[in-house]
Amino acid sequence: MITGETITEDQINNLLKAAAARDQRTVGAADILAWYQDLNIARVRYADASEAVARYYAIHWVRQPPNQRFRLTSPLLIELVREIREARHVNADYLYEPVDGETGAEYAARLQAQLRAIGDGQPPAHTTAEIGMNPAGKEKLAELISGMAGRMPYPPEIAEVLDRARPAGSQITCPRCHAKPNAKCSNPVTGKAMNRLHDSRIAGWAILGETCPDCRAPIGEACRELGAPYKDHAHAARIEAAKQALRSAA
Ligand SMILES: [Zn+2]
Ligand SMILES: [Zn+2]
Repeated sequence: MITGETITEDQINNLLKAAAARDQRTVGAADILAWYQDLNIARVRYADASEAVARYYAIHWVRQPPNQRFRLTSPLLIELVREIREARHVNADYLYEPVDGETGAEYAARLQAQLRAIGDGQPPAHTTAEIGMNPAGKEKLAELISGMAGRMPYPPEIAEVLDRARPAGSQITCPRCHAKPNAKCSNPVTGKAMNRLHDSRIAGWAILGETCPDCRAPIGEACRELGAPYKDHAHAARIEAAKQALRSAA
C-alpha cells in the first residue's frame, strides 16, 4: 500500500485485464505490483488511466504491424495520460491572463490551480479576479503549492520517456512569444519556430516549480540578488533544480 494512493490495486487489475483482452498478455501479481507502484508514483488517477488504455488500443495498437505490436507498458501509459491531460489544456484554449499588480507567488498559485482544474477536465473553478479577492481561495492555493514538497522521484525508465517528451520550460505558456504549453517558441518578429525555448520561459517555469538553492527565493517568487530582482530572472542552480524535479512526480 502506498499512502495517499491515486489508484488502487483493484483498479490496476482492471486496467491490466482490459489490456490483456486486447494483447493476450498474461497478468501476474508482479505486473500488478509494478504498475501499481509506477502509476501511484506518477500520481495517475483511474479515470485518466482507463481513458489512456482505451485510446492506446483503439488508436496506436491497430496502426502497428501485427508482428511488431508493442504492448502497453506503465511508462507509456503515464506518457499517454500526460498527453490526454495536456490535450485538455489545448482544447480549453487556455491562456493565462496576468492580473495587474499580482506578485510572482499569486501568479504561480493562479496558474497552477487553473492548469490542474483544466487537466482534470474541469473549467477553472475561479476566475483569476476571484482568486485574488477571496482569502479562502488563497489559502487553498497555498496548500496546493506546499504539496509539491512531497515529490517522489520517477523510476529512471519513466523519467527518460518524460525527458524526451517534455523539454524543460515547455510546460508553461511562453511570456515572450506566447507559445502555448507544449508548443515550440517562435521568433516574435518573424514568427519562425525556434529550436530552443526563450530564456524567460525556462526561467519562469523554474520559478514556478522550485525554490532557489542559490538565493533561497521561494516557489513562485523571482530570484533576487543584493536585494534587487536578479537580472537573468532565475539563477542557474534553480533551473538545474527544476530540471531534476521534472524527473519527479508532483
Ligand atoms: Zn517563447
Ligand atoms: Zn535565485
